[in-house]
Amino acid sequence: MNSPLDVIVVGGGIAGMACALELAQQQGTRKVRVRIIAKEPVIGSNSYAAQGGMAAVLDPADSMAAHVRDTLTVGEGRNDLRVVRRVVREGPAMVHGLLAMGAVFDRNADGGVALAREGGHTTARVVHRLDRTGAEIVRVLHQHVRASSSISVIDEQAVDLLVDGGACIGVRTRDPRTGRWMDRIAHAVVLATGGTGQVYEHTTNPPGATGDGIAMAVRAGVPLKDMAFVQFHPTALYTDRPGTVFLISEAVRGAGARLLRPDGRPLMEGVHPQGDLAPRNVVARTIARVMLRGHVPNVWLDTSPIGIRRFARDFPSINTHCRELGIMPGRDRIPVMPAAHYLCGGIMTDAQGRTTMKGLYALGECACSGLHGADRLASNSLLEALVIPRHAAARILRARTKHATLTDHHSPDVPVADTVANDDHEAMLHGLRRTMTRHAGILRTTNGLHLALRRIEQAGLRTERAWAKGERAPGLIALRNAVAVSRSIVMAALSEPVSTGTHWIGRM
Ligand SMILES: Cc1cc2nc3c(=O)[nH]c(=O)nc-3n(C[C@H](O)[C@H](O)[C@H](O)COP(=O)(O)OP(=O)(O)OC[C@H]3O[C@@H](n4cnc5c(N)ncnc54)[C@H](O)[C@@H]3O)c2cc1C
Repeated sequence: MNSPLDVIVVGGGIAGMACALELAQQQGTRKVRVRIIAKEPVIGSNSYAAQGGMAAVLDPADSMAAHVRDTLTVGEGRNDLRVVRRVVREGPAMVHGLLAMGAVFDRNADGGVALAREGGHTTARVVHRLDRTGAEIVRVLHQHVRASSSISVIDEQAVDLLVDGGACIGVRTRDPRTGRWMDRIAHAVVLATGGTGQVYEHTTNPPGATGDGIAMAVRAGVPLKDMAFVQFHPTALYTDRPGTVFLISEAVRGAGARLLRPDGRPLMEGVHPQGDLAPRNVVARTIARVMLRGHVPNVWLDTSPIGIRRFARDFPSINTHCRELGIMPGRDRIPVMPAAHYLCGGIMTDAQGRTTMKGLYALGECACSGLHGADRLASNSLLEALVIPRHAAARILRARTKHATLTDHHSPDVPVADTVANDDHEAMLHGLRRTMTRHAGILRTTNGLHLALRRIEQAGLRTERAWAKGERAPGLIALRNAVAVSRSIVMAALSEPVSTGTHWIGRM
C-alpha cells in the first residue's frame, strides 16, 4: 500500500484551510496527510479580519465580462487575463460551496443572497455577512478542518524553507512555547502566510501579517512578482499609535458615507467620476496629498447619510468600535486615514499556485497569481483565496512526487541565543517601518526609495551578522523577515519608473 502523500500548508487563513480541505476532499486512493502549520490561532489572520465581503457574479443583470472588466480596469491591465477569467468564472460556485458547507450570508427581502457595491465595481456584486464576512468564512472552513481526519494543525512558526537538489522538501519551524526547532519534511509545501502590512507604521493587518512566507521564498531564491504594488486602504480609523488600525469598510461609503476635507468640503468631488467609490489607490492618494499639504493627520468620513439605525444594523462591528471611542456612527464624522492594507504582488505562481521551485506552492495574499495586476479590485482577494487552492490541490495530487526518504527531525539549526537583544530588534523594526511609510508608501520618489534601500541594507547587515553568530531571538526572526520583504518592495518600486495602480512615483 502507498504511504500517504505528505503536504505541509504554512498558514491557517482562508487560503491555507481551503487548500487543506480541497486536498482532503480530492484525495482518491492516494491518501493525503495534510499538516497546517500556523503561528497564530485563526482569529489572528487577515482572513478573520475581512469585513466587506467576497465578489461573485450572482445577479442576473451582472455578467462575468463586467467582473473581468472591472478587475482589469483597477489592475490597470497588468493582470493575467487567464487567471482573472478563471477566478471570476468560478466565483458563483465558491459562494454556493460555502453555503453548502453552512456559511450564512446576508439575504434580500426576497430571500436571495444580498449583494453590496464596493469601490471599482460597476455594480453590486459583493456577498457579505454583516461587516464580518471573513470571520464567517473562517468559521465554516475551520469547522470542516477540525472534522477532517486527514488534516492536523501544528502551532509553530515556519522560519525557512528546506531545499534539497533545487526542490522544496519541507520547512524549518520554531515552537514559540518551547523554543524547540524542527525540520518538518513533506512531499509538497504550500505557503499561505498572508499579508505584509506590518512592514508599515499603520496597517489594517493583524500583528502576524509580517510577510514571513515571502521572506522565506526570497531567501530560497524563489522569484516574486509585482511587489511594488501595495494597496493602502483609504479609510482606517485614525490613531496616532503605530501598529494595527481599525478598518472602516468601503461598504460604508457604498452605503452613502462621504469623505470630507478638513474644511468640510467633499474630498472626492471632481477628482474621479466614481467619486467616493473610485479605485482605492485614487482615493488613498487624494487623502495622502490632502494630509501632506494641510499638515493634518486625518480627513473625515461623514456617515450621516446612512443614519444611526441603519448603520448599527448593517455595520455592527464598526458601530461598536466607534461608539466605544465616543463616536456615534450614522450621525458623526469619523476621523480616517490611509493604512497599508493588501499586497497585490507576492511569490510568483501560475494559475495552479505553482512557484518556480519544485514542490513549492504559494496561495492567497502571499502569492502573486496575476489576478490583481497593479491594484486589487475590492473583495477579489477572498475569492482568489478560495479558487486557486482548489486547482493547487488537484495539481499537488497529480504531481508524481518521489517519496521523501527523510522524516521530521530536530533541526540541526540550534540557536546559541534565543532571547537576547529583543529591545534592539524592536527599535530597528520600528525604524524600518517608519522608513517604509515615509519613502515606500503611498507617495514615492526615486530619491526617497534609494534612501530607504540604504537603511534597509544597514539593518540587513546587522541582522545577517547576528544570524551568522547563531542568534535566533523571535525579534531577530521578525527583523530578518521585515528586511527581506521591505527590500523586495523597495527594489520593485525602483524598477517601476512610471506610476501605475497603487505605485505612484514622482515629485511630492
Ligand atoms: C481588515 C481587513 C479587511 C479585509 N476585507 C476584505 C474583504 O472585505 N474582502 C476581501 O476579498 N479581502 C479583504 N481583505 C483581504 C483578505 O482578508 C486577505 O487577503 C485574505 O484573507 C488573505 O488570506 P490568506 O489565507 O492568504 O492569509 P491570512 O488570512 O492572513 O492567513 C495567513 C496565515 O498564515 C499564518 N502565518 C503567517 N506567517 C507564518 C509563519 N511564519 N509560520 C506559520 N504560520 C504563519 C498566520 O498565522 C495565518 O494563519 C481584508 C483584509 C483586512 C486586513
